[in-house]
Amino acid sequence: MNKKLLYKRAYTMLENATPLKFDCGLLCNSKCCSGNSDAGMILFPGEEAMSDKSSDFLRLTEENISDTGVLFAVCKGTCSRRHRPLSCRIFPYVPYLDGSGRLTIIEDPRAKYLCPLLLESFEFKIDKMFERKVFKAFRLLIHDNDIKSHISLMTGVLDEYKRFLL
Ligand code: SF4
Ligand code: SF4
Repeated sequence: MNKKLLYKRAYTMLENATPLKFDCGLLCNSKCCSGNSDAGMILFPGEEAMSDKSSDFLRLTEENISDTGVLFAVCKGTCSRRHRPLSCRIFPYVPYLDGSGRLTIIEDPRAKYLCPLLLESFEFKIDKMFERKVFKAFRLLIHDNDIKSHISLMTGVLDEYKRFLL
């Protein structure tokens, strides 16, 4: 299956998936959509194929992570929900490949001090169904070798973050 079809299926699987059963942005004034130029998200390989003129809320720049080119997207703090990138759909989770290459879904360590849903003491807990949907979407996406390699690359970055936070 080509990447665009894979992303279409993953976007559809996650279309109505949200961390809580109500809009969690009401709890934190939508912190993860602050729309400043320091914040942004990395697109998955080939995900830019999902952009069209409805995606002009995103500004893309090329960046390097461990000598690998990635596309970094910054938004204006509002978007067309149907066109929001994968990273936004799964926040505050990220895919992770453990030591044996097994896919898991983890809390994004980069979001630890941003998203209240990751605070142990917070009264609202992330819906298990949301986690399951994120896992299923990535179980599909890792059939693509580029996407799997990207997750592997980002797993290394996340491990660095976790080391830094400890
Ligand atoms: S920062 Fe967390 S709680 Fe706030 S809108 Fe984003 S996902 Fe929801
Ligand atoms: S693209 Fe949309 S969902 Fe993603 S950070 Fe921007 S406003 Fe939030």
